[in-house]
Amino acid sequence: MQYKSTRGTGETVSPSYAILHGIAEDGGLFVPEEIPRLAKPLEELSALSYQQLAVEIMGKFLTDFTREELEACAKAAYDSKFDTPQIAPLAKCGDHYFLELFHGATLAFKDMALSILPHLLKCSAQKQKLDKKIVILTATSGDTGKAALEGFANVEGVEIIVFYPKDGVSPIQKRQMVTQKGDNTHVVAIEGNFDDAQRSVKEIFTDPAVAARMRDAGYMFSSANSINIGRLVPQVVYYFAAYFAMVEQKAVPMGAPIDFCVPTGNFGNILAAYYAKGMGLPVGKLLCASNSNNVLTDFFQTGEYNANREFYLTMSPSMDILVSSNLERLIYEICGRDGGAVADLMGQLSQQGQYKVNAPELPQIFYGGYASEEETAAAIREVYAQAGYVMDPHTAVAWCVKEKYLAASSSAATAVVISTASPYKFPQSILSALGEPAMGESEQTMVDRISALSHTPVPASVKEVLSAPVRHRLECGRDGALQAVESILGL
Ligand SMILES: *Cc1c(COP(=O)(O)O)cnc(C)c1O
Repeated sequence: MQYKSTRGTGETVSPSYAILHGIAEDGGLFVPEEIPRLAKPLEELSALSYQQLAVEIMGKFLTDFTREELEACAKAAYDSKFDTPQIAPLAKCGDHYFLELFHGATLAFKDMALSILPHLLKCSAQKQKLDKKIVILTATSGDTGKAALEGFANVEGVEIIVFYPKDGVSPIQKRQMVTQKGDNTHVVAIEGNFDDAQRSVKEIFTDPAVAARMRDAGYMFSSANSINIGRLVPQVVYYFAAYFAMVEQKAVPMGAPIDFCVPTGNFGNILAAYYAKGMGLPVGKLLCASNSNNVLTDFFQTGEYNANREFYLTMSPSMDILVSSNLERLIYEICGRDGGAVADLMGQLSQQGQYKVNAPELPQIFYGGYASEEETAAAIREVYAQAGYVMDPHTAVAWCVKEKYLAASSSAATAVVISTASPYKFPQSILSALGEPAMGESEQTMVDRISALSHTPVPASVKEVLSAPVRHRLECGRDGALQAVESILGL
């Protein structure tokens, strides 16, 4: 299996090259030449543990890794850092199914990929005979930052630098990052929103002059954002795990399609579901759920992508994104895998903030919907009243979009809501939604109240960050990312 750039003219690279470099030199994203089909029947795969399933699925994409290497990576990643041996458990509450992807060390679905990426990257560096130090440069809308810091802390031969939007993350998300341990970790608060941070980081990545100075200093950049194919591939695994859990719980017979509703920002999570379907997983619809930053809802309804709109700070900050980078990989499919056409559209996006594709060419598998802030709060209230289940705001957005879709479509398929974060990351928003607003209480008190409401213990990692000392205080202006990187690395 080789990889191509979404903006390229056909040159290919190996999987380990794609993981190590993160992004193509032409600014495009690496995509597999074709989506691999599963050779084994679903019944056989359904008997595997999560780790074994990961090896089976990743092996189809990462063909220059040996089975032993993938086994070692999966074993090191999916261990007791997760608070359940199932790794990605399926919860049934009333008539609703939630795939809980927040049982890892940092309490968001980013752990599913970022606990294995450092191992894949180390392997890739050996295969590529890398003689430089890797600098992981990452922009975060809240959860990627902490998950990447945790994954790469104290990994030999790696420095990690995370930029988070100064006023765009929840207080617990911020605490998680600024208390991070590890001498190779660097955290910077940047002025502006996530889109600004992501743009700055992408510019640094693709600047040839910066690359040359990095080379001279013995460094190279890689990415822990979902533009890295090494993030996407591990995410395909849990869609299979979810499907098998649904069959086991007798929610569907083996082979019948199910729908997934995915709270979406950068389009990485839902794209992994699309790849899972391409591999042969029985998927009906993929419901792309947005908050008030509903650029993707409009895109799936009209074919027009228009980022020229007001940016809202919402209670689901990890989805406060207007320039959704992984959509480029879907656009590549829509354009018939024509790199020139993709480069054209992405040029229009960066210059005019918008582009349009022919609506009839949009894959019918996708449905776009969104939830306003009021609807999100009402969803949290409703599911709690119905089933005693406390959803985090991102999950609530997805639940709400699923309900809207069911009402509009008369679909008979069973839908699984992808639950991307633990409610403990957003106690304040949840307490307000439940009509018990926190009045100047400490984070500790709020977290204890979530525990009482949900009848679940406060996760150990939350206790830890609430009392840990602040270790990172760097800040930079909107255009200061490059300077910050230079000063951290001593370039
Ligand atoms: C990152 C994130 C999302 C969005 O996922 P994408 O892959 O960027 O679409 C949704 N919810 C939470 C909690 C997240 O951390």
